[in-house]
Amino acid sequence: AMEQKDASICFYSSDIKEGLHERARLESDLSKAIANNEIEVHYQPQVSSKDGSIIGAEALARWRHPVRGLVGPDTFIPVAESSGLILEIGNWIMKQACFQAKRWQLQGHTNFRIAVNLSSKQFTNPDLFDEVIDALTEVELDPHYLELELTESCVIEELDTALLTMKKLKDLGIALSIDDFGTGYSSLSYLKQFPMDRLKIDRSFISEITSDKESQDITKAIISMAHSLNMGVIAEGIESVEQHSFLNDIAVEELQGYYFGKPATVSDMDKMLTANKNK
Ligand code: C2E
Ligand code: CA
Ligand code: CA
Ligand code: CA
Repeated sequence: AMEQKDASICFYSSDIKEGLHERARLESDLSKAIANNEIEVHYQPQVSSKDGSIIGAEALARWRHPVRGLVGPDTFIPVAESSGLILEIGNWIMKQACFQAKRWQLQGHTNFRIAVNLSSKQFTNPDLFDEVIDALTEVELDPHYLELELTESCVIEELDTALLTMKKLKDLGIALSIDDFGTGYSSLSYLKQFPMDRLKIDRSFISEITSDKESQDITKAIISMAHSLNMGVIAEGIESVEQHSFLNDIAVEELQGYYFGKPATVSDMDKMLTANKNK
């Protein structure tokens, strides 16, 4: 019996070792990904609920790994966060997004903003403010065309510092939104203090919105709360015409989801924007 026990311990520990090994390899590959030009930014259109016209895009990171192929952010962003690489990678993504936003502006797509996701490590990084200014000035992008998406966990820890950072960013002229709204610790009293431009209603509510009364009620409550706090609302994860018309009926002004367009490469986004302009 003793032997069997030892064997099983041995099995598990080598399993864990394998996992650590795998993670270390991923981390080491990731540390070279920027230099090797392997990080890509894709863009998912955000549209006006009224007429479906494109009003912006969310920047979503992809990693084109030489062996593994296209790696999604749910796999590599956590590795980037735990290793600290997110600061370098996140800053690179923000610069790319600002560069594209400027490029699209110059092509005549005005009234088009870019939303960039910030992880909490980036948000609490003391260099964030200077990096945002650098990214904007490097390409001479008007700050009004940049939006930063924060999650509730980003802003609820160290509330006073977070409020100060948000205020500084707002004073620069950029927009702020709360991502995945409804899934975290959102409390009315907190929300009231945040200088937020927009709430993003999480996909988990939207996916049930045509079938589940509770999701409908929560969504309606989020909208009226946001509007009474002078915040805009964008719903994410719209996949069907029924979801679109329901959200349109309850006055959600902006929408994002596969129904309008999946995250796309720059050249596919170019095509979508050209078609949008000629509409
Ligand atoms: P998120 O910020 O909530 O981004 C929305 C995710 O939902 C994206 O997944 C998008 O492709 C997906 N999505 C959009 N519309 C639909 C839809 O209609 N149906 C379904 N099923 N999914 C939809 P993605 O690109 O895999 O990103 C996953 C998460 O990774 C993001 O969630 C975000 O938290 C994180 N992430 C992505 N890019 C970055 C980045 O540049 N920086 C940071 N810090 N995090 C990022
Ligand atoms: Ca987001
Ligand atoms: Ca989200
Ligand atoms: Ca999410």
